[in-house]
Amino acid sequence: MAAVETWLYPTPCGLFCEPGGFYIDPLRPAERAVVTHGHSDHARPGHGAVLATPETLEIVRVRYGGGAAGIFQPLRYGETVRIGAVDVRLVPAGHILGSAQVVLEHAGQRAVISGDYKRAPDPTCAPFELISCNVFVTEATFALPVFRHEPAEKEVLRLLESIRRQPTRTHLLGVYGLGKCQRILKLVREAGYDRPVYLHGALVGLTTLYQHLGQDLGEVRAIEPETKADLPGELVLCPPSALSDRWSRRFTDSVTAFASGWMRVRGRARQRGIELPLVVSDHADWSELLDTIVATGAEDVWVTHGRDDALVHQLGLMGRRARALHLVGYEDEAD
Ligand SMILES: [Zn+2]
Ligand SMILES: [Zn+2]
Repeated sequence: MAAVETWLYPTPCGLFCEPGGFYIDPLRPAERAVVTHGHSDHARPGHGAVLATPETLEIVRVRYGGGAAGIFQPLRYGETVRIGAVDVRLVPAGHILGSAQVVLEHAGQRAVISGDYKRAPDPTCAPFELISCNVFVTEATFALPVFRHEPAEKEVLRLLESIRRQPTRTHLLGVYGLGKCQRILKLVREAGYDRPVYLHGALVGLTTLYQHLGQDLGEVRAIEPETKADLPGELVLCPPSALSDRWSRRFTDSVTAFASGWMRVRGRARQRGIELPLVVSDHADWSELLDTIVATGAEDVWVTHGRDDALVHQLGLMGRRARALHLVGYEDEAD
C-alpha cells in the first residue's frame, strides 16, 4: 500500500495523479486532464486530452468550441477506465448536469476528488453518490456555520408568490448561466408556472444544450439585443452582472432578485440592491459538508478552495486529519 499523498499531490497546475500522468481540473493547459464539471474555473480550454462525463464534454464544446481540447474522452458514470497504473471512475456529484466526483484507485488505496458538490435534490442532475475512501478531497465554498441553504423549492415558491402579488412588475432574477439558470427554470415548472420565461442572451446557449440533453424546461424566449420590450408581469432571467448594468434599464418597474447561496448574508443582498434575495445554492452548505466528509469514512481530508481555514479547524475539533491544499484559481462562479 502506498499512502495517497505519495501518488496524488497538489502542484501549481492543480492536483496531479502521478501513476496516471494526469491533472484533475488543471488550472493551466495540461497534456492530460480529468475534469469534474463544466464551470469555467474547473474546465479550462487548451488541454491535450480531456476525460469527463459526456454531458460535461458537451458543455465544454458549447463554451469553448470543438477545438477546446485535442481529444475528448467521454466516460459515463460508474464505468472504470485504467489510465497508466490507476483505475479511474466518475460518479455523480449532484452539483450541475454532468458533474462528477473522480474516484482513483491505486496500490490498494482510494481517493475521491469531489469537485463541487451538493446533497440537496436537483431535478436537473443525478444525485450525489457517496463513496467510501481513504482520502476525500472537498471544496469549502460555504464552509461557515452561518451557511444553511434553504430548500430550493421553498425559495422558488417565494418567487412565484411575489410575481402573483405584483402582477404589473417585471421580476428580474440574477442566476449563474450554467446550472443555476436551468435548475430555477425546472423548479418554476415543477411548481406550476407555465408562462414563457424570458432569457438574457448570455443564458440561451447552455439552456438550449440542457434541452437537447433531455431537460424539459418549458417555453423560454430569448431577449435579443434589439428587443425593446418592457415585459411587465413576466419573469426574466439574466446573469448576475446584468442586474446592475445598462441592459436592465429597459424594464421600467422591476423587482430585482438574485438566486445564490450568498444571499444568506443580508449585507450582500443589500449591497447589491437585491429586493428579493433567494437562498438557492448548488454547493453543499456547512452541515452537508461535515456530514458528507464523516460519511465517506476518509482518514484524511484535503480541502481545495473556499473557506478552507474554517473547515480544517472544525474537522480538527472533530478529531479528523484535514489540511488545506491552498490551490489558487478556483472561484465560486456558480454559487
Ligand atoms: Zn462548480
Ligand atoms: Zn468550484
